[in-house]
Amino acid sequence: MPAPAGGGETPGEMAYRIVILGGGTGGTMVANRLRRRYEPEEAAITVVDRDDHHVYQPGLLFVPFGLASVEEIVRPRHRQLRPGIEFRQDEVERVALEEGRVLLAGGTELPYDVLVVATGTVLQPEETEGLTGPGWNERAFTFYDVPGAEQLARALEAFEGGRVVVNLIDLPIKCPVAPLEFAFLADWYFTERGLRDRVELAFVTPLDAAFTTPVAAERLAGLLAEKRIELVTEFATGRVDGERGLLVSWDEREERFDLLVTVPLHGGAPYVARSPGLGDDLGFVPADPRTLQSRAAPNVFALGDAASLPISKAGSVTHFEAETLVENVARFLAGAELEPGYDGHANCFIETGFGKALLIDFNYETEPLPGRFPTALGPLPLLRESRLNHLGKLMFQWLYWHVLLPGRDLPGLPAQMPASGKEHPAAAARKEASTP
Ligand SMILES: Cc1cc2nc3c(=O)[nH]c(=O)nc-3n(C[C@H](O)[C@H](O)[C@H](O)COP(=O)(O)OP(=O)(O)OC[C@H]3O[C@@H](n4cnc5c(N)ncnc54)[C@H](O)[C@@H]3O)c2cc1C
Repeated sequence: MPAPAGGGETPGEMAYRIVILGGGTGGTMVANRLRRRYEPEEAAITVVDRDDHHVYQPGLLFVPFGLASVEEIVRPRHRQLRPGIEFRQDEVERVALEEGRVLLAGGTELPYDVLVVATGTVLQPEETEGLTGPGWNERAFTFYDVPGAEQLARALEAFEGGRVVVNLIDLPIKCPVAPLEFAFLADWYFTERGLRDRVELAFVTPLDAAFTTPVAAERLAGLLAEKRIELVTEFATGRVDGERGLLVSWDEREERFDLLVTVPLHGGAPYVARSPGLGDDLGFVPADPRTLQSRAAPNVFALGDAASLPISKAGSVTHFEAETLVENVARFLAGAELEPGYDGHANCFIETGFGKALLIDFNYETEPLPGRFPTALGPLPLLRESRLNHLGKLMFQWLYWHVLLPGRDLPGLPAQMPASGKEHPAAAARKEASTP
């Protein structure tokens, strides 16, 4: 490993070369944190992304309901990067691990001492038979990208009644609660428009419950029932017939729709498959779940949606991972032992409509539980609807642009999951039994 040359104003000849693939949530946070950590002459930091539009993706949920505009949630990528970080707008073509080089579609080669993979996921609607055929973006939509969310906004505005199916084709997807949030907001939206009695709402999932973990699944199923949203489980979508308005499962069950809001299959970025040894079959990059060092090579780290880890793909996960990853890049460069610092912490507001939201907070070991956040005396209830949680969700966008992306710490939002404030099922049962 080269020792950094001190003294110069721009990267010294012997400065560490840190290349970050992807300038979204994870790539930007990591670049900014590294820039704060190293003087420009100690490390040359380069971020590669194919475009210059940074989307605040949680905002995509609100666009179809007219609650946010695209202009509000998209900002120039390069403007989110601190001075002294090089931004290269280009497509990553492939990583040559053995040579320690990244090849860009424009022909440039970027040698690196440390590589950070933060290229997220790609939506693969074409992987589901019929989904992008007749009816796609006419009666079948996704809100998971900007054009889809805008088209869906127009379709919802014109919708006067019928069966609306909210569906996810299969996991993994980013933000696995977002389709549930969409269903809850649709209930609110059609109520506001005075149409709710003319709309049948269904949530169709391949899971055997409303969510992946039992306590949250029960609470969320209760909310769906309260809001008259039908829950259809174990429905593994095999094909879509947009002309007839049918979702057909692999075991030949059918779900009829007038309007389909689907979350397509997700895969890793295609260049991962073109980079021998880097990724798994889905194009995600396996990494140590605690240090975030990739399995591919010791000088390659991965975070966010691009990483293959046993935790949800979410912005909060990406943010908590960034702290450990940056620490471990520094330790790697210093020849020190890596810190097993990431505990799988994930944290998510779940919009439930009518100005309320739930909050979930969990990690590798602890499933989302009821209680309070961030401590037992904290202001935010866990797994319970509250107005404060909704305000937290709305405020988050400001924090994202002004605190999290610039790489600042957020007091009260620790990278490790706070253990206090969680009501474990056994303790909750004991408490209930002892209440007269
Ligand atoms: C509708 C919706 C709602 C969500 N709500 C929430 C929420 O409430 N809470 C939450 O925590 N998370 C939420 N998320 C998830 C969150 O936005 C993502 O998990 C997070 O952005 C992941 O960050 P990332 O850096 O891994 O990927 P991204 O931010 O997606 O960045 C990846 C970047 O890599 C670039 N890239 C990919 N391939 C290449 C290539 N070959 N060459 C060059 N550049 C490339 C892309 O252009 C992109 O900029 C939501 C997501 C969606 C879609």
